[in-house]
Amino acid sequence: MAEREKRGRIGGKSPNPYHEDKKYPEPTECPRCHLNYRNGRWQHKDDTDESHESHSSHCPACRREIDRLPAGLLYLSGPYLDRHREEILNIVNNQSKSAAANRPLQRVMWIEQGSDNTEIATTTNHLALRIGKAIEDACKGNLIIKHAHDAQLVRVYWERSE
Ligand SMILES: [Zn+2]
Repeated sequence: MAEREKRGRIGGKSPNPYHEDKKYPEPTECPRCHLNYRNGRWQHKDDTDESHESHSSHCPACRREIDRLPAGLLYLSGPYLDRHREEILNIVNNQSKSAAANRPLQRVMWIEQGSDNTEIATTTNHLALRIGKAIEDACKGNLIIKHAHDAQLVRVYWERSE
């Protein structure tokens, strides 16, 4: 059974520069990943749009990558992971690719192997949840979701012991 702990709320209007809802002048281009901010959201450049001067500002995802400040952390652990590592990392890759196709601010920032778990950091809390739930769907196991007090970070723990 998944144990769910929810404090505060994720998202909503927030003054922090990492937040996806922060407004920018239009058009703004991210100098790092070259996403364009148009019609109120960051999106891939439209080739048909040979527009004039853009403002320049890092998008929220690049800001998080530069500062190494994830919005989601997913921890994978348990003996099942050791035996199915490749399969599970494929789920991670597939989920992050399909999430990024629709929402390019959703990115995996790093996958790090620790001594007792594998840590996956994401630029949005939604992506950590999405990947964790996809692994639970495919591999069963136990998923625990913990929202931080300040609601800026979600931690997701997935474990399967056998
Ligand atoms: Zn960017």
